[in-house]
Amino acid sequence: MRGLRLHPVGWRRALLPQPPQSCSFPKLFSSISQKLRSEKENALFPQIDAKWRARWEAEEAKWHRFQPADKRNAYILPMFPYPSGVLHLGHLRVYTISDVLARFKKMQGYEVIHPIGWDAFGLPAENAAIERGIHPETWTLQNIEKMKEQMKAMGGHWDWHREIRTCDPEYYKHNQRIFLMLYERGLAYQAESLVNYDPVDKTVLANEQVDANGCSWRSGAKVEKLMLKQWFLKISEFRKELLYDMDKLAENGNWPERVLAMQRNWLGRSEGVNLSFDVMHAERRNLLAPIEVFTTRADTLFAVQYVALSLNHPIIKEAAKEDKSLCGFLERAKDLPPDSKEGHLLENVTVKNPASNFVDDFDIHAQIPVYVAPYVLDYGSGAVMGVPGHDFRDHAFWRANAGDRPIRQCITSKPDELCTQLVYGSEQDRPMVEKGFVATHINGVLHLPSDQAVDEIVKLLQKKGVKAQKTENWRLRDWLISRQRYWGTPIPIIHCHSCGPVPVPVEDLPVQLPRLPDAFFHGKAGNPLAEDAKWKKTICPKCGSAAKRETDTMDTFMDSSWYFFRFLDPQNKESPVSPTNSCRMPVDVYVGGVEHAILHLLYARFISKFLAMTGLWPSGSGVNGEPFKKLITQGMVHGKTYSDPATGRFLRPEEVDLTEPSKPVIKSTGVTPNISFEKMSKSKYNGVDPGATISKYGADVTRAHMLFQAPISDVLEWDESSITGIQRWLGRVLRLCNAIFINGHGMKHFKPPSLLDQPLLDLLRELRERNILKPAQAVNLHLGPVLGSDEELVAALKPSEQTFWSKVQEIISSVTQSYSETYSLNTVVSDLMTLTNLIIQTSHTSDALSYLKFSATTHLLRMLAPIAPAVAEEGWEKLHEITTANFKHERLIYSDYPCNILGSHSIFNYGFPQGELAILPKLNPTQQCVFMVHGKKKFEVEIGKAPLSIPNRTNEGKYGESMKLVNWTIEQLLETEKGKEWLAMGEGTLWKISGTEEPSNIWPLLPKDWDIVVVKSGRLVNVTGPKKKESDKESSQ
Ligand SMILES: [Zn+2]
Repeated sequence: MRGLRLHPVGWRRALLPQPPQSCSFPKLFSSISQKLRSEKENALFPQIDAKWRARWEAEEAKWHRFQPADKRNAYILPMFPYPSGVLHLGHLRVYTISDVLARFKKMQGYEVIHPIGWDAFGLPAENAAIERGIHPETWTLQNIEKMKEQMKAMGGHWDWHREIRTCDPEYYKHNQRIFLMLYERGLAYQAESLVNYDPVDKTVLANEQVDANGCSWRSGAKVEKLMLKQWFLKISEFRKELLYDMDKLAENGNWPERVLAMQRNWLGRSEGVNLSFDVMHAERRNLLAPIEVFTTRADTLFAVQYVALSLNHPIIKEAAKEDKSLCGFLERAKDLPPDSKEGHLLENVTVKNPASNFVDDFDIHAQIPVYVAPYVLDYGSGAVMGVPGHDFRDHAFWRANAGDRPIRQCITSKPDELCTQLVYGSEQDRPMVEKGFVATHINGVLHLPSDQAVDEIVKLLQKKGVKAQKTENWRLRDWLISRQRYWGTPIPIIHCHSCGPVPVPVEDLPVQLPRLPDAFFHGKAGNPLAEDAKWKKTICPKCGSAAKRETDTMDTFMDSSWYFFRFLDPQNKESPVSPTNSCRMPVDVYVGGVEHAILHLLYARFISKFLAMTGLWPSGSGVNGEPFKKLITQGMVHGKTYSDPATGRFLRPEEVDLTEPSKPVIKSTGVTPNISFEKMSKSKYNGVDPGATISKYGADVTRAHMLFQAPISDVLEWDESSITGIQRWLGRVLRLCNAIFINGHGMKHFKPPSLLDQPLLDLLRELRERNILKPAQAVNLHLGPVLGSDEELVAALKPSEQTFWSKVQEIISSVTQSYSETYSLNTVVSDLMTLTNLIIQTSHTSDALSYLKFSATTHLLRMLAPIAPAVAEEGWEKLHEITTANFKHERLIYSDYPCNILGSHSIFNYGFPQGELAILPKLNPTQQCVFMVHGKKKFEVEIGKAPLSIPNRTNEGKYGESMKLVNWTIEQLLETEKGKEWLAMGEGTLWKISGTEEPSNIWPLLPKDWDIVVVKSGRLVNVTGPKKKESDKESSQ
């Protein structure tokens, strides 16, 4: 069939008889569509995608030149991707969310920035280079090209003119600049630190790159702890601002509470007391300095049973000189995980409980043993006090190292109680970790509650001249940014023998990576920069003597800690960003995975706060230097996983027969497999390639399906079998755009309303002028409101039409709120499905309804456009082409209908629909009406609510007023099937009962001598005939 052949572009033209003059046109078209649905729907959507992608690319300039009158800005940003070369479903989810929000803002008239770039440095590229002998840059750029195609295929609209790649010297030049700015202010420094070192790859590893067994994730080698000179950024200097400014981020739920809690925990501010334990050596009395500890529970001081020191504590270093078994333990401890319960008891060294200064108790005066334990960090003083009776970890350590020795307690849950010892192996052998009251057997602290006891203990110790001080402690450590790797930003420092470390002068930036041959990388371990003698050799910028370049590169988290500034000024050669452009910070909505809750988001806040103190972001001080106003963290995507119920083995896709998607069967056994949704992984064979889904169903169907399946912050269980539901819905939207709601007769004269977002009363006035909206029946009878008044115009609509319009306005309001406030995009999809059904299912009552439905369809398409942009464009084009076809000759008015901005008819130029909630109280939603004859209920139907201007019962006010209510109510009833059955003039049941065809003198719509009472504004109607009336009189006499 010639007319049915599908073309990638313009398939609609092929189907559309032009111009559509035949009366039966919409019907004809819809039958073709139905055929299309069954045969070609799979192919339809990808073709629409392709058509509109090409159109958008051709009209790209118009997208950005469109300047709304009210120039508001919106900066919508998804976390930029690492160019792995493959776009996975998690990516697709985050980029769909940001694209939908950006398109929505654009339609609302905002000037939107929605950029994309590449977090292009990092280990995977370098490892690929080592494995394959291909330069990391070649590998990275190839991947970027692949992913760029995928980013376009998912229907996203990206500001490609703002694209950045962090591996570009033009980008990392500014990365180096920011490092030097930090260095100038003393916020970047070099220090010795204990680090994870991979002896095979010869590089420092991040903590995340060491597995649970203490082995390198890549080489598998046992990681060593080494003291090395490393570069740090002083994030600790900003810890107070990082903590306290979170209160502002928490407002209105702008940042998820979960992320804030994780950051608070990472910053780890705690209030406590610094205490000092005197050290005793069995042989060398008082030669050692007291041990300082920090504790948040000084109230448990009376139950301290040991003190533990870190592996690098000065006392341990000293003791190791003469203690061979200690040396052996230290060697072994290097390989122990940080949560190990192992410890080593020091010989000859004990400490004295400071509480012995004011408490007279045998236990407290006893000497306290000292351990070295890997669980104690080098942070702070590198020493902790052990209270097995009141701390889980201390309890476990004590039981592992001191065996069955009794455990003391000093805090009770109720006041005035005595503590008993915890006996090994008994049921009660559990620490009491809650706060409480100091037990009665402790003299001197008056059995105070925990918090007051802390204050009292500090006071008492200070009185005795013992060091004790209330203080705060932070968990956050400075940020180690040194990496002994090639594929990162070189740290711009030159080491000179006489001057020490000297910053590279700004005019010499960037310090570029040497271009090494591909083969150089093959099988290489360690840092290529350190081996490149030629690159290393340089001259000291200060004294001119021979010097060496720093060979460490920066952690790639540094690149991503400020890239959102660069998007605002990507071409700036002089500076990372100009103050004029940085004033468009902060980012309005930032979208990304919750796995970045700490590292990236904390570093980005730190560097932004720093930039707000410099000339680069002067306007930042107004927002506390916070870079992200609103943070959306999307949930993970889980894949459908099949396993064998007999063995639990995960099944490969080819092992499962999915002929009937709802009834999968294991091919080899014929058994139904277990189905679960789990994190996607190769070993579970549950990975999904979004590219395949997009090419099969089209980007719009995939996007809508993804959004519909789960709220954005929840886990998404990706189940492709339900995608056909979305496909059918979008198919119905497209069929609706054939203007199926206009009947054959109406189509001949159809002329769209002159404005898209026309208020209802204006629209009705226009329809009245064009003789489409007939006067309300009450007006015909000269009994209702004035012809053409607001009230009369509304009353001229049928109740069901008014209800239709109310529902449309309510949906617009709900969708707008979901897009802009709650971000519940799944609700948007379900609201739009409801609207689609409403338009299709509301039955045709008048030509005026066709116009209301036309408006509702334009609203539907514009609300759909952010989610399914190509389908919305296609529907928009089709709808307007069909509905303006009759009026093409009226060039001045309709050639550019509904408007034409810069020569682009893209739906995105027509703005987001404005819901008209103010009209709702004027519309008459329906009410139930009970119809009675002689006080007996005959039927109940839905009719329109009475206008406010008519009285709510018959015997109220003047006769004329009663007349209005009666006539209005009977008109409403005559609109219904039941009403017609009873009241149709001369034919209805009531007329038959009355046996007359003559109408009443008083109520012209009722038979002669019949009376009517209407109460409750038309919710109750009772009619009475003459015979009954007389008998009533008789009985009452
Ligand atoms: Zn020098």
